[in-house]
Amino acid sequence: VFLTFEGGEGSGKSTQLRRLAKTMQRAGRSVRVTREPGGTPAAEALRTALLSGEAKALGPLAEACLFASARADHVSQLIKPALRQGQDVLCDRFIDSTRAYQGGAGVSAEHLHLLEELALGDLKPHLTLLLDIDVEEGMKRADARRQTDEPDRFEADRMPEHEQRRQAFLQMAGNEPDRFAVIDASLPVDAVEAAVTAIVTKRLGI
Ligand code: C5P
Repeated sequence: VFLTFEGGEGSGKSTQLRRLAKTMQRAGRSVRVTREPGGTPAAEALRTALLSGEAKALGPLAEACLFASARADHVSQLIKPALRQGQDVLCDRFIDSTRAYQGGAGVSAEHLHLLEELALGDLKPHLTLLLDIDVEEGMKRADARRQTDEPDRFEADRMPEHEQRRQAFLQMAGNEPDRFAVIDASLPVDAVEAAVTAIVTKRLGI
C-alpha cells in the first residue's frame, strides 16, 4: 500500500511515520520510507535547491513545476517500482502539501491538477494521514526541535500562511473522506501513534 503523511510544521508527521514503519515491519511487512520533496538522488538535489534561499526568486508556478519535476522522478524511480515489488511505501508529504503550499501561494487548482497528472499517472495514495495541530502549538514544537537548525524558507513564513495551509489541508480531507484520516496531533506522541495504528488497521486491515 501507499501511505502518505501530511501536516504543518511541528505536527510530528516524521516521528509518526517512523513509528508506523516499525510497527508494520514488526508485523512482517516490507516497508519503504521516503519523503517529498526528495526521495531519489535527483529529487533530493532539487529539494536542496528548493528549500534554500536561491529558489526564492521563482514565481509560484515555476516553483510548483520544480516540485512536480522532483515528484515525477520520485514516483517513477522509487515509489512505483517499490509498490510493484510488493513493498509498502510510507511518504512524508506528497501531493496535498503541494496543493496547500503552492496552491496557497497562488497556483490555480487547474494547473496543480495538470502537474499532478504528469507526475503521478495513475498513482494515488491509498490512505493519507493528516496530522492536524493548532498553528501556534505546532510552531512552538518546531522551534524547540530546531534549536540548532535554521528554518528553511517555507518554515520562516508568517502565521497567516500557516493557518491558511492548515485550513486547506482540512478542506482537502473533507473533500476526500475515503482517502484521508484526520488525526489530532496535539495529543501526546504515544496517543497519536495509537490513533495512527488504529486507523491503518481499520482502513487497510494491516
Ligand atoms: O516536511 P518537511 O518539513 O521536511 O518539508 C520541507 C519544507 O518544504 C517544509 O518547510 C515545507 O513547508 C516545504 N514544502 C513546500 N511545498 C511542498 C512540500 C514541502 O513548500 N509541496
